[in-house]
Amino acid sequence: MRVLRRLRFVLGDRGGPLVGTLILFAGVIATLVAIWGAGSIKRGEIDLGQYMVRHLRYTYAEIVALEGLLATAATTPGDPRAHAVVADAADRFYVRLDMLDSLSRGPMTDPGTVFAPLARDLMAGLDALVAAGAPLDAGRVAATRDLASALVRETNDYTRGIETRIDEALRRQISETNRAWVGVVGSVLMLLVLSILSVGLFSRNRSIVSQLRTASGRDSLTGTANRRGFTEWARRMEAQDASPHAVLILDLDRFKAVNDRLGHPAGDAMLEAASSWLRREFGEDGIVARWGGDEFVVAVPLGRGGVADLRARLDARRARPVTVDVGGEIVPIAFSCGIAVWPADAPTIEEAITCADAALYAVKESGRGATMPFAPGLMTKRRRVEALRDGLARALAEHELFLEFQPQVDVLRGTVVAAEALVRWRCGRTGRIVPPGEFIAIAEQSGQIATLDRFVLEEACRAAARWREAGLALRVAVNFSPHGFRSAVLAREVAETLARWGLAPEDLEIEITEGVLLAECEQVGASLAALSAMGVRLALDDFGTGYSNIAYLVRLEPDLLKIDRSFLVEGDPDTRASVLQGVLRLAEALGAETLVEGIETPEQLRFATGAGCSLVQGFHFARPMAAEAIPGFCRDFAQRARAARTGAPAAGAAVALAS
Ligand code: C2E
Ligand code: MG
Ligand code: MG
Repeated sequence: MRVLRRLRFVLGDRGGPLVGTLILFAGVIATLVAIWGAGSIKRGEIDLGQYMVRHLRYTYAEIVALEGLLATAATTPGDPRAHAVVADAADRFYVRLDMLDSLSRGPMTDPGTVFAPLARDLMAGLDALVAAGAPLDAGRVAATRDLASALVRETNDYTRGIETRIDEALRRQISETNRAWVGVVGSVLMLLVLSILSVGLFSRNRSIVSQLRTASGRDSLTGTANRRGFTEWARRMEAQDASPHAVLILDLDRFKAVNDRLGHPAGDAMLEAASSWLRREFGEDGIVARWGGDEFVVAVPLGRGGVADLRARLDARRARPVTVDVGGEIVPIAFSCGIAVWPADAPTIEEAITCADAALYAVKESGRGATMPFAPGLMTKRRRVEALRDGLARALAEHELFLEFQPQVDVLRGTVVAAEALVRWRCGRTGRIVPPGEFIAIAEQSGQIATLDRFVLEEACRAAARWREAGLALRVAVNFSPHGFRSAVLAREVAETLARWGLAPEDLEIEITEGVLLAECEQVGASLAALSAMGVRLALDDFGTGYSNIAYLVRLEPDLLKIDRSFLVEGDPDTRASVLQGVLRLAEALGAETLVEGIETPEQLRFATGAGCSLVQGFHFARPMAAEAIPGFCRDFAQRARAARTGAPAAGAAVALAS
């Protein structure tokens, strides 16, 4: 069988039938050749010999009769009837000689016999005897009789010789025929064996092809169906007009983090555990397929409980998650899920997956760890996101991105301390300015964020260098996405960029969100430490909206806490004030400065400064503006600060600065 298998691989899928056909063809040819060999014995030779022998025998009988008559005539030469009898016998002898003469080969032409001269002498003797008339001449009769006796002997010898040759030819024919039949039987047997072999090859070929087909429909790691297997199943279901099915698409949360932190074997173990759970849960009635990476697709007949029932089952599992033991560490399997119903949501199962995927996308956007059923609006959103993603690639290539800067001011000192770089996208097709809130997340998901971060850093440093040339000692703040900190070259790239623009590390402030601190990746910590050691300032953006714990904060040692604007607007004023004061005390303990973001009104400014925070940023002072506008704003602000300081006490002066 191993040989067969090897043959099959050498010859490919069609090898079996091809070899079979060739073998059958060869067998048929071999059989025909053998049969032709058997038939090639020259039968003509034998037939001719036998025909000649028959005539020789008749001739022999005729001559023997003639000899007898001549013997009788010799005793009664005077009998008048003897002349007529001999004349008759002579005529018959002529006829026989004529017959022999008409043969293509025979005693009349054969140089190895004296038959012909003897026969001619006898004929001449008879002619003379008959011509002499009756009564017969006794001397002539005796001489003719002697000639007849000699011809009898010669005919007999010649006939025997021919018969012996015929016997030999017949013997040869029999042995050659026997040999030919052995060949024929051999060929038939070979044909039979080769046919069996061919059928074996053919069926083996088919079974291997079908095994390969089955194998190619399975995922090699988890053993579940793969995309191909699922698609085949889906086609069957659609062809059968099967009952409605729920189509689920599940994505493992934090899979990449586990893969990065604990290695690929841990990731594999997670995928295997997830796959066996899904098969246990849904495999009996439906199908589970690995869709690639950490995504699984499940299709199950829609029960009476509908999608709500499935959601409840998934929520229950989320509450008591499947876990994987990876080298002693127990990792829970968390997942996000989108559900669509075929054919209610989409006419084909494939389209239902797209719908479920749109729902999954929405789950991921809203923070993962949930299950969401498909709704038509989600598709529109998904398409918009995809259009943005494609457009963003173009934007990066065709320089449609640019920066605006929003000043950060110290209202007590009356100075502009920094400007925060905020990226904008002027869409080349529509001319619309797309705000970063719409495309940063997309850039993060699509992997375009690294290019974007590099662009922003470069442009921000270029702007800061120009301000410096204009005599402004102004820091530039840059927002970095969490993704960038996974790169081992981030700190080096930052240092190189600063050096290129002749800036000191303290001229740059990097704003990170609390999400960065949550990343379970050693490299993130190393990048932050390297930047901090270099002297670059670290600011914790949108502080108060994330989940960072005190331990993380202590480890980070931020230079600045940027307090989110929600502290200005949410809850009752007294509570807000005491929470803000608490945050300021925490910052003090951490050795960090504080800045309140999003100041829009004089009241909010009063609230911030009243709580003890003099660093602020917001529309109340300035909206984000072009880099070239920053020096003018700084000059204006300083002038107003000087004017205010001469006419009002500190807090009032701060408010006056903004108006
Ligand atoms: P952020 O870093 O917290 O930036 C401040 C956002 O608040 C900016 O929105 C700014 O225009 C807005 N803002 C400033 N003052 C006020 C105010 O008084 N009231 C209100 N309601 N909003 C105010 P923007 O430019 O739309 O940026 C949104 C977010 O996008 C940023 O939040 C930041 O997280 C992100 N982002 C912006 N530029 C970049 C960038 O270059 N790289 C990265 N990774 N993220 C960026
Ligand atoms: Mg920021
Ligand atoms: Mg912020």
